[in-house]
Amino acid sequence: MLDAASFRDIDPGQRVLMGPGPSDVSARVLQAMSAPCIGHLDPYFLSVMDETQQLLRSLFQTQNALTIPVSGTGSAGMETCFVNLVEPGDEVVVCVNGVFGTRMCDIVNRIGGKLTRVDAEWGRTIDPQAVRDAVKGKSPKVLAVVHAETSTGVCQPLEELSAIAKDCGALFLVDMVTSLGGMEVSLDRMGIDAAYSGTQKCISCPPGLSPVSFSEAGINAITNRKTPVVSWYLDMSMVSSYWGAERKYHHTAPINMIYGLREALRIIAEEGLEKRFARHRLNHQALVAGIEAMGLSMLVPETERLPMLNTIRIPDGADDVLVRKALLNGFGIEIGGGLGALAGKVWRVGLMGHAARERNVFLFLSALETILKTQGVAVKAGALEAASAVYSQG
Ligand SMILES: *Cc1c(COP(=O)(O)O)cnc(C)c1O
Repeated sequence: MLDAASFRDIDPGQRVLMGPGPSDVSARVLQAMSAPCIGHLDPYFLSVMDETQQLLRSLFQTQNALTIPVSGTGSAGMETCFVNLVEPGDEVVVCVNGVFGTRMCDIVNRIGGKLTRVDAEWGRTIDPQAVRDAVKGKSPKVLAVVHAETSTGVCQPLEELSAIAKDCGALFLVDMVTSLGGMEVSLDRMGIDAAYSGTQKCISCPPGLSPVSFSEAGINAITNRKTPVVSWYLDMSMVSSYWGAERKYHHTAPINMIYGLREALRIIAEEGLEKRFARHRLNHQALVAGIEAMGLSMLVPETERLPMLNTIRIPDGADDVLVRKALLNGFGIEIGGGLGALAGKVWRVGLMGHAARERNVFLFLSALETILKTQGVAVKAGALEAASAVYSQG
């Protein structure tokens, strides 16, 4: 017999989420999620859907009609973009400089797309010239890139790649899982045909939805397909009739998740995009100043860094796992370890959305300094002063 009493209430306690996601969620979002669950065709919920789409368009800085949250995490958004745009035999160029570019390639191969990879060193940006060379004499259907490579902390400039995509007639597909809500992202201005994101990074909502947006050219590619989309669940031609005027049942929207996303987007709109992006930049600069004052170094060159995800080289003598354990157990701070080739070499420190704040920067710097000293790693004094100096200038 199962003893129900042996299962205690869920009570994870408080954490400071400074990893690669999820990020800290504000109490307002959690409260919105606890509102009554109603029918997914209830007129009240339909108005929540419409408002969520409006708020999402404003965040993506687009007029794209097809802008919706896909039911699923960021990877579901990635899959949505590829399965809808790519048919078997279609040529696809994917830029790879980290884990998420690699994941894109896996999906293209599963769909039966003809994949061309453009690789760059992990921790560096993709060189547009390498992409130009790769598309020479080809007319790929899609050119795909990750804007904010969360596995390395690299920010990929999009303008040149967008121009290359236009020149060779390809649709420009961009992973904005980590950048959306934390830095400038403008689908219309940047000429992006398909983008996807996730709720748990700079939007600061729990994981579970993936905002996606398709341009007119993207929608045309879907409409003119010769073969049905291989995924029934993620087929935008059907999902869009549920989010569009027809309200045709496809699958039941995750009602309470959408409440939460609407509230998170409302918080972003209240703050204003410019202020929000500036806040991410300032906290990033303060964190880096503190890290460098300690004598540690960043993986990514200064001009290629993301504001919301900081990769710090693990100093000689420090034990990766023990440091992260001590941060979590002693201070409630979660950070990420390295992935793939960078495992054991870097720590990934997120300053995303609600978590991108001065208090967290000081907490992290002092906790890290304390822990490293305990492990006998030599650190220089002055981290907090260096961070403080950045704030007093900003
Ligand atoms: C987190 C992340 C994903 C995957 O999102 P999940 O929500 O974990 O499925 C994809 N791309 C990037 C850049 C990410 O940071």
